Amino acid sequence: VTVAEVRERTLDELTLGSSLSLEELVERSALNEMAKSFHQLFGVPLRIFSDAGVLLADVSVQPAIYEYLAENHRRAKAALQEVVAGVKRVDPGPKGEAAYNCFTGAVYHVVAIQYDGRKLGRLVLGPFLPPTVKEIPQTLLAVEPEVDVAAAKELLFRMPRAREETVRQIARHLRGTLDLILFSGHKALLTSSMHLASVRESFRDLQEKNGKLQEAYDKLKELDRLKSNFLATVSHELRTPLTSIIGYSEMLAEGIAGDMTSEQKDFVRTIHEKGEQLLELISGLLDLSKLESGTLAMRRSEVAIDALVADVVQTVSPTARKRGVHVASQVDDALPRLWADPTRLRQVLLNLTDNALKFTPPNGTVTISARATSVDVAPPDDEGGVVLLRSKQAAIELRVSDTGIGIPDEEKLKVFDAFYQVDSSSTRQVGGTGLGLSIVKRLVEGHDGRIMIQDNKPSGAIFVVTLPCRRATLS
Ligand code: ADP
Repeated sequence: VTVAEVRERTLDELTLGSSLSLEELVERSALNEMAKSFHQLFGVPLRIFSDAGVLLADVSVQPAIYEYLAENHRRAKAALQEVVAGVKRVDPGPKGEAAYNCFTGAVYHVVAIQYDGRKLGRLVLGPFLPPTVKEIPQTLLAVEPEVDVAAAKELLFRMPRAREETVRQIARHLRGTLDLILFSGHKALLTSSMHLASVRESFRDLQEKNGKLQEAYDKLKELDRLKSNFLATVSHELRTPLTSIIGYSEMLAEGIAGDMTSEQKDFVRTIHEKGEQLLELISGLLDLSKLESGTLAMRRSEVAIDALVADVVQTVSPTARKRGVHVASQVDDALPRLWADPTRLRQVLLNLTDNALKFTPPNGTVTISARATSVDVAPPDDEGGVVLLRSKQAAIELRVSDTGIGIPDEEKLKVFDAFYQVDSSSTRQVGGTGLGLSIVKRLVEGHDGRIMIQDNKPSGAIFVVTLPCRRATLS
């Protein structure tokens, strides 16, 4: 079913169908209000019935004469019941209005309520007494000959008096007002039904799309899990033979299996070098898949930052010297210790420093610095909203800054994606896999830390890692 179809159907129902009733078009309270104000203006009792005969609005009181007759005269009581039923039966006919005369001399005026050629209900004005009635009428005496004429007359004349012509005019006026009310009621109903139909339709649409999205999401998640599993298995299986290749090529290069020509030695050295590269890549993949699946175990202990930085500086110095890049370190005194996995932390710092060296031309400088800072931590039960409840926690800020080519703003987030390289063209001078930073980021986050990139002045990049000294969450 399309929106158009729904709309058409609703329109059909609302314009042609016979299901529409007066109560649906106008609220009872509105009808009552209108009846009340007409009664106040003209003093004539008024009731409004639906087509099905349900009393929707009523501003009438039992006339005193009716009460008196019903209480004291059995026949008159029966006749009055007949009047009530008779008034209900009156068919306003094609003219839309008809009068009903009560044996007491009172008159009812019945008017049809129509809308769009459809009968919706009836207005009953009365009972009222036309001014022409000056005595107890013969009709009453015929029904109840023994009535106390003087008393009855006094009571009868308490009834609201109006000329029939006046009541007809009031009725016309009422119909006009009702027409207006019905028109706007119908319009409102039509609009809201159409609105409802289209809202319902778009809701259904959305639900359907939502379902499809969820399905796609689940599929992707499953695929991602399979990919991680596959990566983990494959890299694990590749590592074992690769270690042999590296080991044996190393032994060959050392001449354990006999002397080799210099060309053979060159070849074997290349095999060894490429083997090491491959091993690094595979270890990276393995780390990443473990980090993705959350199975990488962190072995935390107290880590002294100064020793860690010194170790990294020492490790990279040979490479730095080869590239002609100066490596410096700046570690503040008396830094608090970190509760972290020392191997993983070293991996983070080493990776960042390696990158800095890779992208810094000769005569540049790479600086590793560490200082104390603090981070906001939310209490464990905090849902993320109440900033006032957050507390500060001691943290360490590690910076690896270089004077190299720097990282453009639009690449600052992307470099943390797996396999992403700023310039991955074949003309690229430095090697690499594009895995390093994605692993670094996950390792930092595994320590509840954050990593971001700043620009160095006048050129170069600064990688800033902030690590809380203790875990924010207990686990
Ligand atoms: P790669 O193995 O290519 O170094 P990384 O994930 O470590 O992979 O880095 C991704 C990319 O980010 C690099 O290829 C490089 O383009 C850019 N990058 C990383 N560190 C630096 C840096 N210090 N200066 C400039 N660019 C950098």
